[in-house]
Amino acid sequence: MTRTTAVAPPTPAAHLIAGEWVGEGTVERRNPARPDEVVALAPLGTAATVRDAVAAATDAQPAWRSKTGPERGAVLTRAAELLTARTVLVAHDLVREEGKTLTEATGEVTRAADVLRFFGAVCRNADGLTLPAGTPDTLVYTRREPLGVVGVVTPWNFPIAIPAWKIAPALAAGNAVVAKPAQLTTLSMQHLAQCLLDAGLPAGVLNLVLGAGSVVGDSLVSHPDVAAVSFTGSGTVGAGIHTAVSARMARVQLEMGGKNPLVVLDDADPVRAAAIAASGAFGLTGQACTATSRVIATPGIHDALVEELARVAQSYTPGDGLESGTRMGAVVSEAQFAADQRFVETARREGGEIVAGSGATDGLFHPAVVVTGVEPDHTIAQEEVFGPVLAVLRADDLDHATAIANGVRYGLTAGIVSNDMRAVHRFVDQVEAGVVKVNRPTSGLELNVPFGGTKESSTNTYREQGQSALDFYSWTKSVYLGVD
Ligand code: NAP
Ligand code: MG
Repeated sequence: MTRTTAVAPPTPAAHLIAGEWVGEGTVERRNPARPDEVVALAPLGTAATVRDAVAAATDAQPAWRSKTGPERGAVLTRAAELLTARTVLVAHDLVREEGKTLTEATGEVTRAADVLRFFGAVCRNADGLTLPAGTPDTLVYTRREPLGVVGVVTPWNFPIAIPAWKIAPALAAGNAVVAKPAQLTTLSMQHLAQCLLDAGLPAGVLNLVLGAGSVVGDSLVSHPDVAAVSFTGSGTVGAGIHTAVSARMARVQLEMGGKNPLVVLDDADPVRAAAIAASGAFGLTGQACTATSRVIATPGIHDALVEELARVAQSYTPGDGLESGTRMGAVVSEAQFAADQRFVETARREGGEIVAGSGATDGLFHPAVVVTGVEPDHTIAQEEVFGPVLAVLRADDLDHATAIANGVRYGLTAGIVSNDMRAVHRFVDQVEAGVVKVNRPTSGLELNVPFGGTKESSTNTYREQGQSALDFYSWTKSVYLGVD
């Protein structure tokens, strides 16, 4: 296997406040695939850093709001072009800090650029209503108003795409933003911010604060001048943010975990179904909120599917994301790796059989694991792993499979593999999930389609992505325009 880059020197990471990169890098981030390589040195922000960032955003927001939609859109569109031009550099930094494969990282950077492009166009197109008035010579219409300063808190697993799909609609709607990336992955968000600055985003309209979630994250979501908070991450942290933001009656949007099921019915082709399941389960090293983590199979296909899944899992060779032969990148951190291993051990102890991925491990390279004989009350059938571990459950028929699918506290994405349209419609109607995919992996979303979950996966109020993302970042003013 060949390495595509030499070891690069660490990049100094920094806060972005009022258009300046500030702060001294002290916290090391190491490449999960190459533990001797320091990727970034980041400063550790404090509550004072957050106060400075919110103040800069508050100062900058009125001028940004008063620009026309097309003017704001031009900045986003230019930023998209710059990010596209920098794809190779940014994708390499993304692999070095997060661990996914270069192909996946390149796809993610491309997605982030496309998100900027999409919201660049939306700026020309933000919609309102005209409505019938009850009096003559009166025009009634609605207009979108920005919220002011919004806070964005993001996880490590899509370190540029998630920031892009939160920041772009916030800016499009005329808000200023203070964003906090996960400590594990600071460089990707910095690249995004640099593209926006280079595209002409005025100083202070986007600010980044780096540091611990419990310090800078908490200060940001608790700040009285932050009008809304959009968060993606774990349920535990999300619950705390919900309490803090709701207490001051500000707007909050949370996207959290999943335990996404893929139901496979008897009529499916086991080879095709296994490929769909494996792509959803092992792509991105299983570190996606939309990852397939449960396959629920009916009796006529169960055994053939398991055999095929075990075979396909072996083809997900784990390794350094920058090496050409790697199909599945490194796990992001030692803590996540240990958690993945604990889940596999617990699954075995509770009665599951490991039919793929039981061998020895090396570094943070985790094999693709398939566990069969799983019962709905097993830990591996209930808890999100956030790693390349797939549980297989048996169901008697479609309704039993749907009941198992719904028997968890999450409801993010769900899938079904079948060409029996009656069964497919019934599943779409009955399954508790924000996104349902038929004959497609549970992961992999289009940027123009509303995204979010139900139950404990999401606040289930405002959707992210597409035109509907604007709803969270704006409020509606109704205008009665009469003539006397
Ligand atoms: P996490 O631990 O909840 O962290 C998410 C972000 O919140 C990080 O930036 C973190 O900062 C910050 N944070 C931590 N404590 C905080 C606090 N008290 N106040 C404010 N912010 C705080 O999640 P993660 O480990 O990064 O990501 C994995 C989780 O994200 C999984 O549960 C996964 O399902 C979920 N996820 C959901 C989606 C979705 O769209 N539904 C997408 C991707 C991931 P630091 O880590 O820097 O301390
Ligand atoms: Mg965490």
